Amino acid sequence: MMGLRRFSIGSRLTLWYLAIFALAQLIFGAGMWFILRHNLYDLVDDGLEVQVDDLKNFLQSQPKDRPLAKLQEEVTETYTAEHSGDYLEVYAENDQLIYRSAFLQAHPSALFPPDQIRRPVMRSRKIDGRPFRFALQKLIINGHTYTIEMGIQADDAVETLHLFRLYLLMFAPLVLLAAAGGGYWLSRRALSPVDALVRSAREVGGSSLNNRLQKLETGDELQRLSDTLNEMLDRIETAFLRITQFTADASHELRTPISLIRTEAELALRRSRTEAEYTESLRHILLEAERTTVLIEQLLSLARTDSGRETLHPQPIDLRQTLRAVADGWQQVALVRNVQFSEAIGGTDADAPGCFVMGDETLLRRLVDILLDNAFKYTPSPGSVRLWLESTEESVIIAVQDSGIGIDEEEQGKIFERFYRVDKARSRAQGGVGLGLAIAHWIVTQHRGSIVVESRPGEGSTFRVKLPMIPTPAQNPQPV
Ligand code: ADP
Repeated sequence: MMGLRRFSIGSRLTLWYLAIFALAQLIFGAGMWFILRHNLYDLVDDGLEVQVDDLKNFLQSQPKDRPLAKLQEEVTETYTAEHSGDYLEVYAENDQLIYRSAFLQAHPSALFPPDQIRRPVMRSRKIDGRPFRFALQKLIINGHTYTIEMGIQADDAVETLHLFRLYLLMFAPLVLLAAAGGGYWLSRRALSPVDALVRSAREVGGSSLNNRLQKLETGDELQRLSDTLNEMLDRIETAFLRITQFTADASHELRTPISLIRTEAELALRRSRTEAEYTESLRHILLEAERTTVLIEQLLSLARTDSGRETLHPQPIDLRQTLRAVADGWQQVALVRNVQFSEAIGGTDADAPGCFVMGDETLLRRLVDILLDNAFKYTPSPGSVRLWLESTEESVIIAVQDSGIGIDEEEQGKIFERFYRVDKARSRAQGGVGLGLAIAHWIVTQHRGSIVVESRPGEGSTFRVKLPMIPTPAQNPQPV
């Protein structure tokens, strides 16, 4: 079997086919041969029995107490002339020979002594290379016991058998050869789609990911295989395109601040400047450097999520505390920007239901930070930003509302995509590169939640994050 492994499926199938066919042919041929032989000998034996019956009738017709010598004379007279006497021997009691044909005198039977014959026997004998069937039996006629041996030629039967065997041996290899050819052809035909698949699979590469395996219409396992592989290629291509796009966008985004920094520095160095001018240039450079740092951090964070290396540390979290801490940090920003900031997070009562989720504290803080950052970025003074918590039966909702510029209906579906910005120039001026909401979306998905936006241009936007609620733990594990 080990050796077979090295052959192709087609050759293996053919070999198996051949082996099974040869075995079947052997069993069939041998079986037929035995059946044929049995039937042919039956026919010969039937003829022999008829002759024995004739002899029986003849002996019966003899007077009961005819002396042996007279009987010998009668039998000899009758059977010497008769064809059925050619291979005949008849004995009376005490092995006294009554008749023996000339042929049997020349070829004495090896099957006697006659007193050992209990029941009729049929034997095949070959004499001078010619086949015979002999019947040996005791006949009890008119109170006398005779032992007879009577033969008949079996040339025809043996000849037929020989021919049959010859044909079998002659045609078996031919049939086997035809079977092997047929088997090979069949397996090639059944497996030819595999070759087609292999050929088309070779065409698929990094730069030709849009190639697909040949579409099979065989309606069988192979079609299922090619369909499944093609679906897999679809997914790989989508992921590949996303990565390519991401890399292109990231490089592009990184180039902008760097070229700005460079231009600023070059301009400053072109001629000597006042200290105030240098300070101004350095301030610009610092600002761009800070933005670049933020961008790089966001890129790294997304790269980590893509590679699955960003791991969550989920624990029961009281969202009221988390939100309050985050909100505190934004009070100052609100003041500076002259935007009214209000929060409705609820009391500190630890027993108040419906504020606990299973989550990663750092990531959830980041999520709220992103939403508040956007709200302040896109809300001109004087406007308002609101943060509050809602709870339904099984979920907690974090809502961030602003009275800012709002988002067009058709843009609302795209803002969660990486690098997507409604107004590129404006967003950049605010320090955004379009990654915040993509990260927010990832965080929400990781917490098995959902994020939706409701907005009207010019009237403001409301972002709602829905997270699955968990029962309030018996003791508040969070340090206050
Ligand atoms: P960015 O860093 O540019 O803010 P985000 O992924 O956070 O990127 O947001 C994507 C885009 O969605 C933003 O560029 C902006 O056009 C739009 N957007 C996000 N939040 C708001 C909001 N509160 N009001 C108006 N537009 C918003």
